[in-house]
Amino acid sequence: MDSEILQKCIKAGKIAAQVRRETAARLEKPGASFLESLDFAEGRILKLGGQIAWAQMALNDVAAHFCPEEDDTQVSQEGDLIKVDIGVHIDGYIADNAMAVEVATKEYTDLIKAAQNALKSAIKLVRPGCQLWELGEAQYSEAEALGFTTVKNLSGHTITPYTVHGGVSIPAFNNKDKTELQEGWQVAIEPFVTNGQGMIREKGKATVFMVEAEKGVRSLYAKKILEQVKPQQGLPFTTRWLTRKLGKGSAVLGLRELQQSGIIHAYPPLAEVSGGMVSQFEHSMVVKDKPVVYTRHEEDGW
Ligand code: MN
Ligand code: MN
Repeated sequence: MDSEILQKCIKAGKIAAQVRRETAARLEKPGASFLESLDFAEGRILKLGGQIAWAQMALNDVAAHFCPEEDDTQVSQEGDLIKVDIGVHIDGYIADNAMAVEVATKEYTDLIKAAQNALKSAIKLVRPGCQLWELGEAQYSEAEALGFTTVKNLSGHTITPYTVHGGVSIPAFNNKDKTELQEGWQVAIEPFVTNGQGMIREKGKATVFMVEAEKGVRSLYAKKILEQVKPQQGLPFTTRWLTRKLGKGSAVLGLRELQQSGIIHAYPPLAEVSGGMVSQFEHSMVVKDKPVVYTRHEEDGW
């Protein structure tokens, strides 16, 4: 990886880490509006000089892929376990990071600790030639040490320009994958740890989408959506960006057409199958003998 690209990753990472922490700090207090918190996150990314790849959150048994709609009235409540997942890019070079916070409770301190430990112990192994199963094993054993398990059907991933999932999955358990990390790969490691069974499935209405094919569209609504999300260049977009600009009716019709014609793919919330609580921590890094973990904030401690 040349140094100009590395500098872009590092810049995106600094912003992603700061916005992730600021957003989590808001949501950690009871009564914080989900909608305002994610609008805040997006505003901060831009203010700090980044481009928005995504700003998402997830509540309790939901692991990932939730964004509030424009009329969402939910607020954080005592006893909630909230994940904040922030993606920032500079010219397509993405920093992907996430953290979990518990709202006015100490009930999930161990669950949080376990995911932090899982991430830390995997990062310690990162170097060219490290096999993917080793990273999975490290994460799983940290979760198990505190009495939990990792979510098996969620994984970390490589990152390539303007692409969230670069094609190689990094398991959170020993899946026997002997693929070796290569020098210069950008990877995100993201253990999801749960007190449930350790599997997720899609649940509820999607508010996160990505364009996955380029094809002609019929309706004006669909055209307008594609125009609006074009600057994302394939990175995620969310419903409220569209409804605020086009109105709810037009946005819903347009989204339906785009989904039916296979132009966009919907990513519904992912919930733990047994209703277990889920914590998550995530860093992005560049693989080297000493990896460059570019989403770490000096106060993270993980
Ligand atoms: Mn993420
Ligand atoms: Mn990720």
